[in-house]
Amino acid sequence: MAEDAGESGSAPRRVMLKLSGEALQGPGSSGIHSETVGRIADEVTAAAQTGVEVAMVIGGGNLWRGAQAARDGMDRASADHAGMLATVMNALVVQDALEQRGQFTRVASAISMDEVAEPFLRRRCIRHLEKKRVVIFAAGLGAPYFTTDTAAALRAVEIHASVMFKATQVDGIYTGDPKTDSSAERLERIPHREAIERGLKVMDVTALSLAMENRLPIRVFDISRPGNITRALTGEPIGSLITSEDQETPA
Ligand code: UDP
Repeated sequence: MAEDAGESGSAPRRVMLKLSGEALQGPGSSGIHSETVGRIADEVTAAAQTGVEVAMVIGGGNLWRGAQAARDGMDRASADHAGMLATVMNALVVQDALEQRGQFTRVASAISMDEVAEPFLRRRCIRHLEKKRVVIFAAGLGAPYFTTDTAAALRAVEIHASVMFKATQVDGIYTGDPKTDSSAERLERIPHREAIERGLKVMDVTALSLAMENRLPIRVFDISRPGNITRALTGEPIGSLITSEDQETPA
């Protein structure tokens, strides 16, 4: 079946790239930095042009954080709705940058907004990927109290991505924050379960549990190094890998 293309060995490589909203803010402390968006779009396009099927989830933390607004007194569900809309803004900006580079894309939103983005329909998104369109999943899961990391893990599983990439500002997973803790050790490879049990800050537990239950490997890599997005998406083993105990290292 065409929709199962991600599962067979001979199928094209299909991957999920998760960027935080902060990845778009460049040297600023919030907002969107167009040069940085341009660099990301260059690198994603370069990978997509090698034939890799690329799905993306972009967070919204550069514009809005629901949990923070809730701490400041706002109703959490409303604050999270605002956060999901922030992810749509980021998705549209990245879509435009990709299109300027000749890369066809679709934004699929978990919240209906037909004038702006198509609704998330799993089978349609798989078809887009088969046609080598970059699919950007926007509005998270469309539900409050979740993160875009969890949305990325769920969408990755739904579209049969072979691996999820989580872009960060450090070159992999550490036992502590390497920027403040000199004793923090870098881990090359770690099972999902251990990442959860050790409380590593790389991703929230909901996202990690979903990945563990569905044997989705997650490669954590440093986005600040130019070229790393293309390297990761095309299969260079950079960064650290979160994987099942018995899983082969994915290409
Ligand atoms: N959000 C949500 N449900 C989702 C995904 C996101 O409510 O499924 C909201 C939540 O308020 C969150 C905001 O969107 O704070 C931005 O997402 P996230 O914090 O995951 O972005 P990132 O940290 O990756 O930039």
